[in-house]
Amino acid sequence: MQELNSADREYLLNTIRNIPDFPKPGIEFKDITTLLNNKKAFKFLLDHLEARYKPYNLDFIAGIDSRGFIFGAPLADRLGIGFVPIRKQGKLPYTTIGEKYALEYGFDEIEVHIDAFKCQKASADVLLIDDLIATGGTAKAAANLVNQAGANCVEACFLINLTFLEGDKELKEKTTVYSVLEIN
Ligand code: AMP
Repeated sequence: MQELNSADREYLLNTIRNIPDFPKPGIEFKDITTLLNNKKAFKFLLDHLEARYKPYNLDFIAGIDSRGFIFGAPLADRLGIGFVPIRKQGKLPYTTIGEKYALEYGFDEIEVHIDAFKCQKASADVLLIDDLIATGGTAKAAANLVNQAGANCVEACFLINLTFLEGDKELKEKTTVYSVLEIN
């Protein structure tokens, strides 16, 4: 399974901008727009993900609303497979399956179309993708949704894992987890 060496990880990490106290005091926001507008870095990341996931023979990539779409859709195109958006509640127009997850205050909900992972096989092999895993609540709900929609979540992939929050701990009980970059 392909992973980046430390020099390549350092290179990508340095293309991501840190914004202190956004969106609220105490949070250091990982601003990936500086990776996206750097054509060399964006291509480098997609080349890496393509090389890693080509041997997986996936059927779909499911991207989490909304930054998971930015990486998931071009990767699906490179792998020659379909892309499925997992969206915030109320955005998808056809029949959906939903999954609620806890926030600091209250709940949020994500949804997927009921027939999103239909393919020739009984159960589609799906890679879940998002830009960042923090507490892991969103990703866990998304992995549950993939399974509820009748597909198999082969792996969950993140550009960044804020490892000090241990958000991947429970997710690892459901699927394997790969993070391109880990921030301690
Ligand atoms: P969580 O459910 O706590 O794992 O939060 C993950 C989602 O929140 C991802 O979709 C991220 O885009 C976003 N997110 C959480 N924390 C940060 C952060 N420090 N910097 C940038 N995005 C974040």
